[in-house]
Amino acid sequence: MVEVRLEKVTKKFKELVAVNGLTLTVKDGEFLVLLGPSGCGKTTTLRMISGLETPTSGRIFFGDSDVTYLPPKDRNISMVFQSYAVWPHMTVYENIAFPLKVKKYPKNEIEQRVKWAAELLQISELLKRYPSQLSGGQRQRVAVARAIVVEPDVLLMDEPLSNLDAKLRVMMRAELKKLQTKLKVTTIYVTHDQVEAMTMGDRIVVMNQGKLLQVGPPTNVYLKPNSLFVATFIGSPEMNIIDASITERKDGLYIEGSGFVLRLTDDFRDLLRDYIGKDIYLGIRPEHMTVRGVSTLEHVNKSAEIEGLVDFVEALGTDTIIHTKVGDNIIKIKIPGHVPLPIGENIKIEVDLDNVHIFDRKTEKAII
Ligand code: ATP
Repeated sequence: MVEVRLEKVTKKFKELVAVNGLTLTVKDGEFLVLLGPSGCGKTTTLRMISGLETPTSGRIFFGDSDVTYLPPKDRNISMVFQSYAVWPHMTVYENIAFPLKVKKYPKNEIEQRVKWAAELLQISELLKRYPSQLSGGQRQRVAVARAIVVEPDVLLMDEPLSNLDAKLRVMMRAELKKLQTKLKVTTIYVTHDQVEAMTMGDRIVVMNQGKLLQVGPPTNVYLKPNSLFVATFIGSPEMNIIDASITERKDGLYIEGSGFVLRLTDDFRDLLRDYIGKDIYLGIRPEHMTVRGVSTLEHVNKSAEIEGLVDFVEALGTDTIIHTKVGDNIIKIKIPGHVPLPIGENIKIEVDLDNVHIFDRKTEKAII
């Protein structure tokens, strides 16, 4: 187990900058998730950490050792990919034993270790089978067993669950997380699935266009996104983003937009001083609003009220999403349980002011 450090790592493929000045420390034993849309540079980052790709500039350290130019075989890393990459001509036992054989472990230690890994992944009964006799989920367990059997310093996983069906994915998500917690192996996990990132990562790194946008524990990133991109990339249904402006009246500051005026409490004044009279984006997550008389917001210190018209209702079973027309905006409100509001009904929307986000129009960075 080891700490992994990237210092100003850049990777160019001809003109294309796939990873752009990435600086990041993955703590010893941490489960770090690289999250971002397709093409943002996650896999390239992982491949540079593995040694399959060399940075154009910058350095990569495992503990105190500079591994930037070290080949993969000298790094004590293991990788698990989306395609299970188990060898079809080998039994499950032989697949798991393979990396140990390459490293010339003695036969009895190979046996012990394969047994240990197979038990951890609950595939002990499958050791004699060939991959063609396994389900997708079982094959991926074999791939994970083969990855951990050498007790790597760093475990690298690239979308390992994306070939599994939805139910199996949810199950394997929890199992992989439990396994990593048990083994305490430094793990870097690539995904574009925000739910996977939120549920598995000790910390998540949100990337876009080769750059690191934000890093932190999932809840921090969710509740305090530093930019419009992060705010809208994480969360489902996504955060409502509303065109608005900050205005000042005799009795204080307001956020005004089409069809609504939100009175802000005085503690916003310092933060918004430079934005008075300017256009901003207002961000509110669907669960940080409710409909008066239907449900109440919990643990809320400050709230404000706006009016709307029910436009459409999505009943999800556990929650209801109320699409509400407020001026020219359609705002989604998420309410726990089944809320059969009639379309066209006038409603009063309570907004949790502790959880409103305000973004600069030009830089798209969070002001609040
Ligand atoms: P995905 O989720 O789709 O796998 P990603 O975030 O992992 O995407 P990368 O695979 O790291 O993204 O790719 C980053 C950028 O670098 C993309 O524009 C991709 O087309 C480009 N790229 C990756 N590998 C190469 C290569 N070997 N040669 C040229 N361009 C490449």
